[in-house]
Amino acid sequence: MPTQGGSIRLFRVAGIDVFLHWSWFLVAIYEVQIWRSMFSSPVWAVWLYLGLFALVTMHEFGHALACRQVGGEANQIVLWPLGGIAFVRPPQRAGAMLWSIAAGPLVNLLLLPILSFAAHIAFSAGMSYSNPDAYKLLGKLWWINVGLLIFNILPVYPLDGGQILRALLWFPLGQIRSLFIASGVGIAGAIGLGLIALWWQSIWFGILAFFLLSQAMVGWRRAQFLKLEAAEAEAHLVQEKRPIF
Ligand SMILES: [Zn+2]
Repeated sequence: MPTQGGSIRLFRVAGIDVFLHWSWFLVAIYEVQIWRSMFSSPVWAVWLYLGLFALVTMHEFGHALACRQVGGEANQIVLWPLGGIAFVRPPQRAGAMLWSIAAGPLVNLLLLPILSFAAHIAFSAGMSYSNPDAYKLLGKLWWINVGLLIFNILPVYPLDGGQILRALLWFPLGQIRSLFIASGVGIAGAIGLGLIALWWQSIWFGILAFFLLSQAMVGWRRAQFLKLEAAEAEAHLVQEKRPIF
């Protein structure tokens, strides 16, 4: 997981620092090389990669601002090749967590009509003939935004969808059992994504599946730890209740 170390600070908005991890540049160069064939000039491939990360950054700001709104801590966003990470600490309540998580995909959902409208205006203005590169860029960003929305709401913990599942299960099942179920589904989902990656022979999906698997396992171990802690607290309570003569 990337952190502030090895990253450069890009800017600060509303007290939230946005960092860019060094590995972002390596993958940016790689992706731009692949995407350049789509456009008449490689500059447009650079714009597409920057546009992708503008969408990712807005998604992360959704998380960070929602987390603050419910009284949590959020002051750092790190961008890296697999997307963005908002370092948030929402209050340990189901409702507060649910809102902090849901606000990320909600940003992509709100961007959908905005990008659709922009594409409509561009088409009406004859941009597909007058500036086909810019028009293609807009179309690609529309699809990337839809892709980000769908991917993030997959119920594979620790993806947003998996964390939403966890927060929803928290209401009836409590903090520990909800984490066991969500991280268990996350482990299964990550293995499924790994198989898809093998099938598609996609190295990126492979790396992503491996990252998700390791994080889902961290979730599972945290649930085990919480269970142990709760059992110890209960044992302590039983001990304390013992009558003393
Ligand atoms: Zn998210």
